[in-house]
Amino acid sequence: MQAVVKSPSKPEVLIQLTDVRKSYFSAEVETPVLHGITVTIQQGEFVAIMGQSGSGKSTLMNILGCLDTPTSGSYVLNGKETAQLNDNELAKVRNQTIGFVFQGFNLLKRMPLVENVSLPLLYAGVPMNEARRRGTEKLAQTGLGAFTKRLPNQISGGQQQRVAIARALVCEPALILADEPTGNLDTTTSGEIMELFTRLNSEGMSILIVTHEPDVAKYAKRLVRLKDGLVTYDGPMADAHL
Ligand code: ADP
Ligand code: MG
Repeated sequence: MQAVVKSPSKPEVLIQLTDVRKSYFSAEVETPVLHGITVTIQQGEFVAIMGQSGSGKSTLMNILGCLDTPTSGSYVLNGKETAQLNDNELAKVRNQTIGFVFQGFNLLKRMPLVENVSLPLLYAGVPMNEARRRGTEKLAQTGLGAFTKRLPNQISGGQQQRVAIARALVCEPALILADEPTGNLDTTTSGEIMELFTRLNSEGMSILIVTHEPDVAKYAKRLVRLKDGLVTYDGPMADAHL
């Protein structure tokens, strides 16, 4: 059923966080934000991270996305201890293992959609024609096959987020990380974006999404709830009190 899980009886660990702590330092003042997070996520999971504003969701996402490093503790991604990777290796992980989706879409305004989507492939060294071909394919997969030549301001917000999802998928990542991906969208469009994530997950993609909206979170199969930098719930969405 889940294409990327090679052996359903023995799922592969995608993410292993062990006692991850994170403090921010400014003028030698320490602000502890994550107080010891231990979470295991298998390939093919669909997880929502919830919590009030300031609970540490984005801090955790930045660590998961290798944009920032823990102050202490261990983060093993796809079998590799991220603390042991140098800057080049981390950049490669960000480009090739993780697809990012942001609240604000983050598309390049003057670039046609197909170029926006194929850009990560160019960074990865894929030749232009091949990058375009794969970009076009991903746009078709997210329902925008007819719009490849349009500019971002010539499509709706929901469509822009589909473009961002196509871009996140284009390097065939092991994992999609989405921080408040529906934060700028109306309820109906949010539902459509979550349906798209649900379909991608049913095809085998591992997805982690941060949201503060229960109606968005409920599409995920598992909930991790944060409060003041600690996990207060980790279990099936069906058993969670949203
Ligand atoms: P959330 O995404 O759940 O709203 P964040 O991870 O953005 O929470 O922030 C958690 C806490 O860390 C907040 O109190 C915030 O003010 C603080 N924080 C976030 N980023 C920084 C930073 N770069 N420097 C100092 N404090 C920060
Ligand atoms: Mg945040």
